[in-house]
Amino acid sequence: MAKPTADERDGPGERAEANRENSRMEFLLTLKRRGIGDRAVLRAMDEVPRDRFVEPAFTDSAYVDQALPIACGQTISQPYVVAYMTEQLGLRPQHKVLEIGTGSGYQAAVLSRLVREVVSIERYRTLADRAKETLASLGYDNVTVIAGDGFAGAPDRAPFDRIIVTAAAEQPPPALLEQLATDGVMLIPLGPQNGPQNIVRLTKSLTGTVRETLIPVRFVPLLPGRALEL
Ligand code: SAH
Repeated sequence: MAKPTADERDGPGERAEANRENSRMEFLLTLKRRGIGDRAVLRAMDEVPRDRFVEPAFTDSAYVDQALPIACGQTISQPYVVAYMTEQLGLRPQHKVLEIGTGSGYQAAVLSRLVREVVSIERYRTLADRAKETLASLGYDNVTVIAGDGFAGAPDRAPFDRIIVTAAAEQPPPALLEQLATDGVMLIPLGPQNGPQNIVRLTKSLTGTVRETLIPVRFVPLLPGRALEL
């Protein structure tokens, strides 16, 4: 009698698990192929289960390199962009990082594996609450999620060694530049809402702020004020 194949032997649960393992290996290879070289960043991308941050309907696509819709008409960023921005921040274990635009909490989770403390602000309470739950369920306890207006930052927690904005603005919000430590780095997608946007790196020093344009991207807009409805 022929031996059962792996597919016949394993139940649907095991098959789904095996598929997920395969796609997670593929996921890391894609990031490396696209140029992510920092080992600590790759380790963090490997460690954080993106399937826990996407909507249940998209679990099967969690390890495909694409942005996906989340609640409140927002998106969880493309994994490559998350890895790229994380790498370009130049993180150190002792850093305190501010993120604007918590969304699903995925970027915050990746950051939390690499630094001492992450503060993340989201204008939709629904998203902030869900992200809090997801992060807590994974035991990522060095992240504080705040429902509030990212344009104002978190002055009571400043200064921040690194700031990452994950929604696009026309200009860097002045309050965020103020809350950036000397020698601090801020990454922000700049550009019009429906036009060309680029990730810009701002490096603050005693003599001024150096501005570098990195890669072209497409982000949802950074909207003024806290969302009242949700
Ligand atoms: N970093 C997220 C993706 C964020 S999408 C992730 O990993 O899933 C951008 C997010 O920025 C959206 O959730 C949007 O609601 C939020 N946002 C837009 N304007 C904001 C503001 N002024 N303050 C805080 N969050 C804002």
